Amino acid sequence: MDADRDDLEKILMAVSVTREEEIGCDECFERLDRFVEMELSGLDAASAMPLVRDHLDKCGDCREEFEALLEALREGGRGPVGRLWTRLRRSLGAG
Ligand SMILES: [Zn+2]
Repeated sequence: MDADRDDLEKILMAVSVTREEEIGCDECFERLDRFVEMELSGLDAASAMPLVRDHLDKCGDCREEFEALLEALREGGRGPVGRLWTRLRRSLGAG
């Protein structure tokens, strides 16, 4: 019986989380560069932007983007990579 109630609470929690605290790939993408910048600055990006963190946990595509961006900025600095990223985002956004 306790298990049943736990399940119900989990379901209710999942529903409310889905309704109020979920972003899509577009929103995640828009915030991703700031998220990565915070991460690279040693700030707690996951706490500051939990919705992005949450989305990255769930979405493999965005996690790949995140890791690629993180890697690129870490290795290459911000100049050319930043411009490339901006262009990539723009072309994806324009679809
Ligand atoms: Zn996504």
